[in-house]
Amino acid sequence: MEQTLVIIKPDGLRRKLVGRIIQRFEEKNLTIREMYQGVMTEEIAQEHYAHLKDKPFFANLVAYMTSGPVVFLLLEGPDAILLVRQMLGATNVLHAVPGTIRGDFACSTTENLVHASDCQENAAIEIQRFFG
Ligand code: UDP
Ligand code: MG
Repeated sequence: MEQTLVIIKPDGLRRKLVGRIIQRFEEKNLTIREMYQGVMTEEIAQEHYAHLKDKPFFANLVAYMTSGPVVFLLLEGPDAILLVRQMLGATNVLHAVPGTIRGDFACSTTENLVHASDCQENAAIEIQRFFG
């Protein structure tokens, strides 16, 4: 069993897609271990995306992630980390294929509805950050 951290980003709540996004994880038979709604502070958003701090879009990304409430999910299942990444679709909006969450619902590389941990090391750090 593996655990991964998912965040439904502010546009997911604004667009009222929370239920449909969570439904996909349930349909995949992943287990929701924990879940809550909250608002990311600027400090936490900067920490969460620290690896991108030199990118030109960093300030915009932090502003977006703190622009409204988000939903945090602790998901569990076999190979959950890579499985959920596949379900999200690619970061680049033009590469996010239909059938994925981003491919079906997002039309922006920034406002792309969902975050998920990308490897075991980051999953452990992110689960501790938001559910520790
Ligand atoms: N992002 C952006 N512009 C880019 C690349 C990424 O605004 O050119 C944003 C987008 O919201 C993305 C987040 O920064 O989800 C984190 O980027 P990362 O490369 O880690 O992509 P992810 O892991 O979310 O697919
Ligand atoms: Mg990432």
